[in-house]
Amino acid sequence: MIEAWLLHKPQSVEYQPLVRSSIPEPDCGPGQIRVTISACGVCHTDVHIVEGDLVLPGLPVLPGHQIVGRVTELGPGSDRFHLSDRVGIAWLNWSCQQCEACQNGRENLCSSALFTGFHVPGGFTEQIVIHQDYAYAIPDQYDDVQAAPLLCAGIVGFRALRVAGVRPGERVGLYGFGASAHLALQILEHWQCETYVFSRSEQHRRLARELGAFWTGQAGERPPRQLHRAVIYAPAGWIMVEALKDCGPGGVVTSGGIHMSDIPQFPYALLWEERCLNSVANATRQDGHDFLEIASQKKLHTEIEVFRFDQVNQVLKMLKNSTLKAAAVLSRSC
Ligand SMILES: [Zn+2]
Ligand SMILES: [Zn+2]
Repeated sequence: MIEAWLLHKPQSVEYQPLVRSSIPEPDCGPGQIRVTISACGVCHTDVHIVEGDLVLPGLPVLPGHQIVGRVTELGPGSDRFHLSDRVGIAWLNWSCQQCEACQNGRENLCSSALFTGFHVPGGFTEQIVIHQDYAYAIPDQYDDVQAAPLLCAGIVGFRALRVAGVRPGERVGLYGFGASAHLALQILEHWQCETYVFSRSEQHRRLARELGAFWTGQAGERPPRQLHRAVIYAPAGWIMVEALKDCGPGGVVTSGGIHMSDIPQFPYALLWEERCLNSVANATRQDGHDFLEIASQKKLHTEIEVFRFDQVNQVLKMLKNSTLKAAAVLSRSC
């Protein structure tokens, strides 16, 4: 048996919804690998899962989808990794490769996709099995806890820049400065973009300036110049409207989150001149490989706070109340 933190009933993070439990070791089937987990990042999506903001596929749920560990068993026919290789596991756990979305390179939109820590058991435990094709090699420059936030905050944050259509040298606004945005900012620096960071927290604005932000302020404050792209990492619909006001003609506003409060009504004049509002859903393996390739060329600074696995309920509460400095990671070795 292994230890796992299970959700039996969705409820507010105030009530410590994850329960320490013993579950059987998962079987390692054909094409799969067994991964012994050393670290697992905690993501805002985990808060939305435990509080029942997302419609859950069934109960109990074992959340956690930014997993780093080592391969400890190869299922029949698995040859992509070797025993003791270090791998990462992200939100996309499996896609059908048959549907129209999969056939068009958009497996992130696969209608039968399975997501880690949602449809299938996730990383708030000791071991996980996954099909070898959905695991990632982790760049050597990162230790386990530093690598964990790359797997969702990093990959999905990167897809958001792609969906917003960011081109090198453009002026890009990042709204909300948590785990995703601090990695996205460094990618934008790499692309020589001019970044404008909007956050309520002075601590976050300071970190943004240290990482190279051109300008920092709060949502609702107008930046000194009109933006080409705006990416929203905060789950607040009103910020979408404020970001539209910040964009010039042809500007794109992209929402990077899985859940957001309603977007208030706004005058058509804000959308006129080919401004565009869109959203990101999940990420493809190609996004993952491309992002990790950049992360291996240019060492990204992952700002993390490390906790023990038995502190997971406390971490979810801190995440919800925005009292974390940066990305939260659970570690077996602390
Ligand atoms: Zn599919
Ligand atoms: Zn996530």
